[in-house]
Amino acid sequence: MGKYNPVDAAVVAELQQIVGDRNVWLDREKMEDYSHDAVTGEKYVHFPEAVVFPETTGQVAEIVQLANRRLIPIVPRGAGTGYACAAVAFAGGIILSTERMTKFVEFDEPNMVLIVEPGVRTVDVQKFATERGYLYPGEPSSSDSSCIGGNVATNAGGMKAIKYGTTRQQVLGLEVVTPEGEITTLGGRLKKDSTGYCLTQLMAGSEGTLGIVTKVYLKLAPKPAHVIDLLAVFDSPEAAINIVARIMQSPVSPVCVEFMDNKGIRCSEEFLNEKLPHSDKGHYIIVSLAGDNEEVLEDQCVTIDELCTAHGALEVLVADPVKIWKSRKTFGEANRARSLIFSAEDTVVPMSRIPDVVQKLSELSRKYEVTVHIAAHAADGNVHADILKEDLPLAIWNERLPLLQDELYAFIYSVGGKLSGEHGIGYKRLDLMRKYCDPVELKMMKAIKKALDPNEIMNPGKIFSLD
Ligand SMILES: Cc1cc2nc3c(=O)[nH]c(=O)nc-3n(C[C@H](O)[C@H](O)[C@H](O)COP(=O)(O)OP(=O)(O)OC[C@H]3O[C@@H](n4cnc5c(N)ncnc54)[C@H](O)[C@@H]3O)c2cc1C
Repeated sequence: MGKYNPVDAAVVAELQQIVGDRNVWLDREKMEDYSHDAVTGEKYVHFPEAVVFPETTGQVAEIVQLANRRLIPIVPRGAGTGYACAAVAFAGGIILSTERMTKFVEFDEPNMVLIVEPGVRTVDVQKFATERGYLYPGEPSSSDSSCIGGNVATNAGGMKAIKYGTTRQQVLGLEVVTPEGEITTLGGRLKKDSTGYCLTQLMAGSEGTLGIVTKVYLKLAPKPAHVIDLLAVFDSPEAAINIVARIMQSPVSPVCVEFMDNKGIRCSEEFLNEKLPHSDKGHYIIVSLAGDNEEVLEDQCVTIDELCTAHGALEVLVADPVKIWKSRKTFGEANRARSLIFSAEDTVVPMSRIPDVVQKLSELSRKYEVTVHIAAHAADGNVHADILKEDLPLAIWNERLPLLQDELYAFIYSVGGKLSGEHGIGYKRLDLMRKYCDPVELKMMKAIKKALDPNEIMNPGKIFSLD
C-alpha cells in the first residue's frame, strides 16, 4: 500500500476550504481517539494524518473527490465502537468522521420510514421511534454509543435479530457518496424492488470500503404493547444452550434468546457491582417475548417456563428488564475491565451447532490455558467468545492466540459456520479471511471493489487486501 500520497499542506488547505478550519484536526493528541476502535492491543493502533468532520453530503462528496484526485486513503468512521479495527487508518490518510451529521431528515409516517444522517446514535433512533409508538428493532449491545451509519456499514446484529433481522433488514434505502465522489440514492422507500442488482444490501456490511453512507432510510415496525423478559437459569452451559433449539421449535416466537455463561455472568456482576441471580453457578438463557395481547403473552411465558423446567432449568423467573439487559450488554466492557487486552471472537454457526461450539471453546480454553467468557445471540447461532489475556506474558499471548483461533475457526468452518456474525472482518480478521473465505467468493468481492473504487482510496486494506 505504498502508492498513496501524504496529506500535505496543500491538501490540508483544500480540506479547510471545504469544511472550515475547526472541522479539520491535525493535532496528534486530539486524534488519539481516532487511532483505534474498540479492539485493544498496540498492533491495532494507527494514527490518521487528519480527521475531518463534514456536516453535509456535499462536503463529503468534495472531500472524497479530493482524496480520489490526490490518491489519499479515506476511512469513514462513526462512533469507533467497532470490534474489527475497520475504522482505523492503517494506510494513513484521512478519517472522515460522521459525528457532525446527526440530523433526523424526515419521518415519512404513512410509509413508516425514518430518514436519518449517519452520525445519529442508534439509541436516539430507538427513542425517536418509541416516542411515536413505533419500534426501531436494531439493537446492538453498543446502541448507546454506536452510530446508525456504523451499524449499516457493519450490518450490526444484536439482541432482536432473530425476530427482526440484522441492520440490513432495517434498511430500505441509502444515500451514498461513491469512492469517486458521486452522490446517489440506492433503494428508497419501497417495500420491494427488483430493479437490477440490490446495491443497497451490497453497501450494508461493506465496512466503508465501497462508499460513504450519508443518509439512511430505516424501516420502522409497530411497537408491541407488552414485553416480558424471562430468565432461565441452568447449572451447566450445555443444558442452557441445548434449550435454544427447543424454544425456537416451539409455537412461541421470541424477540430475543440470549446466552451468558457463568464466567461472563460473574464478570458482569463484578463490573456492575450488583448481585445477579444464581451467579454462584448459574448459566443464563434470557428470553424476551413481545405482543399486544397480555393473556397470549402470559401463555407463552408458561410454555417457555415448562419447556425450560422440563429440560433441567434450576429456576425460571420474570427478570427485572433493566438489570438483566444491563448485565448482558456490559459483557464486553466487563471483560475489558478484567483484562485490557482481550480478543472478541464473533463466530457464527447454524443454530443447531452452538452446543458444539461451546464445548469446543471450553476444550480450547483448557488446552491453551486462557480464560474464555462466552455470551451468545444464541438463536442466531452467533457465539461471542472473549478470550482474556489477563496476566499472561505478552509474548506467550501473541503465540497462543493465533493457534487457538486457528483451531477454533477450522472447527467453525467444519460445522458450516463463518468468521463473523456481526462485527465484520475489518483489519483484525484479514489473515483469517484470506485463509477461510471461499476463493471464488473472495475473487467476486475483489472484482466489485476494483470496479467501484478504481484508485482503491476507500478504506483500503479492510476485509481483504488487493496487494
Ligand atoms: C461494548 C460493545 C458491544 C457491542 N455489541 C455489538 C452487538 O451486539 N452487535 C453488533 O453487531 N456489534 C456490536 N458491537 C460492535 C460495534 O458497536 C458495531 O460494529 C457498530 O455497528 C459500529 O458502529 P460505529 O458507529 O461505532 O462504527 P465504527 O466503529 O466507527 O465503524 C465501523 C465500520 O463502519 C464504517 N463506517 C462507519 N460509518 C460509515 C458511513 N457513514 N459510511 C460508510 N462506512 C461507515 C467504518 O469505516 C468501519 O468499517 C459492540 C461493540 C462494543 C464496544
